Order: sequence, then structure tokens, then C-alpha cells
Amino acid sequence: MLDDGEREKRGAIIESCLEMNRLGINQGTSGNISVRHGDGLLITPTSLPYDRLEPEDVVFLSPDGTPEGRHRPSSEWHFHLDIMRERPDVNAIVHAHPTYCTILAIMGLEIPPIHYMVAVAGGSNVRCAPYAIFGSKELSQNAVKALEGRQACLLEHHGAIAVGASLPKAMWLAVEVETLARQYHGCLPFGAPPLLSEEQIGAVIEKMAGYGHQG
Ligand SMILES: [Zn+2]
Repeated sequence: MLDDGEREKRGAIIESCLEMNRLGINQGTSGNISVRHGDGLLITPTSLPYDRLEPEDVVFLSPDGTPEGRHRPSSEWHFHLDIMRERPDVNAIVHAHPTYCTILAIMGLEIPPIHYMVAVAGGSNVRCAPYAIFGSKELSQNAVKALEGRQACLLEHHGAIAVGASLPKAMWLAVEVETLARQYHGCLPFGAPPLLSEEQIGAVIEKMAGYGHQG
């Protein structure tokens, strides 16, 4: 039996999966979400349609990657587990293949400081982790590295990851990063866009720390 707190967390993961599709940042079941739970994490199961998920379908993963539940965890469990291990500040991870993030990732591009909101991902860029096959330890290592000092990254020829102190924060950031990717994509036909300097982004980060970062 699940206690109320755990049932609520599992329900929030399912709700956020459905929300990803409503927001247009994911299609089908390619996206996956995890939330820290005890010494491990709760993660979406592999290949099950979100609209049929029940709290019991969400999988618990122990710190060594052992799954508990009636389904297999998402094939991307490696990077969910490794990011949680490396980043005590992170309590939720959202992964999807949002169209504009993925276009940039196919081209091997990071998101440069085209707009001050790039700072919400933690610095002056959103890096693109080098390609490695889905579900691999190598992809996980590349993602952890691309997330150093950041709350989001792109995955070459694949998609994007957003992390946060809570699931609503990670979801919010996933949408923001897709918006930035769309803006950058829109600039590219005009040529290389002018960029904000490190100093200008630093000032934004400082101001956001005082104001909160909702714009
Ligand atoms: Zn993926």
C-alpha cells in the first residue's frame, strides 16, 4: 500500500506527463519525469500511455538502480538516477523531445545568451550534451556534465532535460527553454544574433536572486 504522501507524488508525476503533452513540449510517451523520493526516486514507467497511468504504475528506483514496481522504469533511468546523485539541489527532472530544442540539438547547437531569460537555466548558455545512444551510461555522463552549474541542457540528436528543486519548477523551466529555443531558431535566418555578455547575464542572475525569476 502506498501512503498518502507517496501516492500524491506519483499522481503529480502522471499529471505532469499529461501536462507536457497539453503544453506541446512532448508527444507520445517519449518524455519521462522523475521526482526524488527517500534515498531513491520515483520515475515514469517505460512505454505506457500517460492517460492510462495510475499511481501504482510509477516505478521506484533505489540508489543502485534497482527498480521496484509492476513495470520497467523509463529507458532513460540512468540519467535520472545520476543527475539526482550528482545534484543534491535537484528534486525533479523533466525530459522530453520538444520540437525547437530538438532542432537545435540536431544541429549540435547550444542556446547562447540571446535573451536575458537564458539566465533562468543558471548561466549564459544552455549547453548541448554530445550524442550518445538513448538509455546509455555514456548519455547520462554527457548530460551530467552539460548540466554543471545549469538547470537545463539539450541532448544532441535527441531532446532536452530540465531540472529543478520541485516538479513545478522543472516543468516551468522545460517550457521556458523550449521558448528560448524557438526564439533562437527564429533569429537564425537573419544571421548570427547579437548576444548578451557574461557580465550582462551575471547582472540578470543577481537581480533574479532578489526578485524571483518569473519575468
Ligand atoms: Zn528521450
